[in-house]
Amino acid sequence: MTVYAQPGQDGSLVTFKSRYENFIGGQWVPPVKGNYFENPSPVTGKTFTEVPASTAEDIELALDAAHKAAPAWGKTSVAERANILNKIADRLEENLEMVAVAETWDNGKAIREPLNADLPLAVDHFRYFAGAIRAQEGGLSQIDEDTVAYHFHEPLGVVGQIIPWNFPILMGVWKIAPALAAGNAIVLKPAEQTPASILVLVELIADLLPEGVLNVVNGFGLEAGKPLASNKRISKIAFTGETTTGRLIMQYASQNIIPVTLELGGKSPNIFFEDVLAKDDAYADKAQEGFTMFALNQGEVCTCPSRALIQESIADPFLEKVVARTQKIVQGNPLDTDTMMGAQASNDQFEKIMSYLDIGRQEGAEVLTGGGKAELDGDLAGGFYVQPTIFKGTNKMRIFQEEIFGPVVSVATFSDYDDALATANDTLYGLGAGVWSRDGNTAYRAGREIQAGRVWVNNYHAYPAHAAFGGYKASGIGRENHKMMLDHYQQTKNLLVSY
Ligand code: NAD
Repeated sequence: MTVYAQPGQDGSLVTFKSRYENFIGGQWVPPVKGNYFENPSPVTGKTFTEVPASTAEDIELALDAAHKAAPAWGKTSVAERANILNKIADRLEENLEMVAVAETWDNGKAIREPLNADLPLAVDHFRYFAGAIRAQEGGLSQIDEDTVAYHFHEPLGVVGQIIPWNFPILMGVWKIAPALAAGNAIVLKPAEQTPASILVLVELIADLLPEGVLNVVNGFGLEAGKPLASNKRISKIAFTGETTTGRLIMQYASQNIIPVTLELGGKSPNIFFEDVLAKDDAYADKAQEGFTMFALNQGEVCTCPSRALIQESIADPFLEKVVARTQKIVQGNPLDTDTMMGAQASNDQFEKIMSYLDIGRQEGAEVLTGGGKAELDGDLAGGFYVQPTIFKGTNKMRIFQEEIFGPVVSVATFSDYDDALATANDTLYGLGAGVWSRDGNTAYRAGREIQAGRVWVNNYHAYPAHAAFGGYKASGIGRENHKMMLDHYQQTKNLLVSY
């Protein structure tokens, strides 16, 4: 067990600045209008830094810097770009603990997650795209004896990126790594709830990139996000966030006829067929563990398995086991590696979850465990902690249909395969899903028939860099991860040459 010191206390691995600026053209630049906002840590509820409340003027400065840098960056050899990405990966890996403390302090998550998942994945993401860009090939087709079609990959130029607060660094890196690999310059806007950890990362890697290739402008959605997403000087907008915001982003982009990547909300089904309990073995254990994934990252995951569908014949024994497991989830100091669930990322999010706990009760759902605020002692008493909660109800309830984005799972039962699939697909969303069955045919068939971009079969919540990730239905457009991501950050030039 390790308990990391809080920032500001002796022995802390990270020292936040009391005030941050925007990162533009390789410099720390104050906001044009001089306004800042306070950023509290969800761990204690107390402010630890302030960051720019940027406006359209700051976005324009960042776009000036990005446009200045883009032509030269786009012409660098792929080997050079790959080397830089590998150096960024090495630098992050060498400072992983320090960045993990920053991420936990800014977001509230239990530090075991950035230490063991988010940040190792981020490191691997840079390395994966360093390799992918070097392995990318152009195309040549012979049209007839005298004519040849060449296909070249070209960067888009300057791209805008807007990210949410649940995985501030990993969501940033999912976008930054492929965009840089493909030769683009970036203007990135972090979420206003978690502006600081990504700035710690930028400070760490700033010297590895040419000035202006990566620019970070902080601020709120309408004041800073909209001027970026609706700007005529970007060639693409990549967005991760809520479906309602995604609709706006698409409208802005339509005015400039630019491509969008939208990674939006979810209400992921996690289906347990009756054979999971056929034996009391390692598989049964893994399936129960898969159920508890609703509490990973405090449930603030777009693919949170927030609807558990359990075959009627095993509902009682299965629920008894998973309720017991859920009650063993250790909540506490997020900087303690033994802690399994930390704080919700903001007070607003905490309040939203609490309101859904009321809604679930009002709708008549049964609370099997949890159902309220988690009371912690000392300076954690002011933080935003919620008990992991299991509701039992029916799929038409709001707690089954609306994204709560907290450690709350709504359980319904099903009679047979067709009932399970109909319930799983009865949702606006189509981002993630889980299927648990010892029977390969059932698992494969369900995996293919669930309308979601990512279906985990006999596992849950793995995010390897080389597996495509993205949404069906209202969960988004486009994919992230996988080398196909390079296509989202490049355009194709065709040269049709006659000899
Ligand atoms: P959000 O949509 O409120 O905000 C996301 C970002 O958009 C923030 O940086 C915000 O400042 C900005 N923004 C808000 N309004 C804007 C506007 N009008 N124009 C431009 N930018 C604007 O989402 P959130 O609450 O930060 O994040 C949670 C959501 O993100 C959940 O719905 C979750 O499912 C989703 N999410 C999806 C994925 C995925 O890969 N599909 C991953 C993580 C989170």
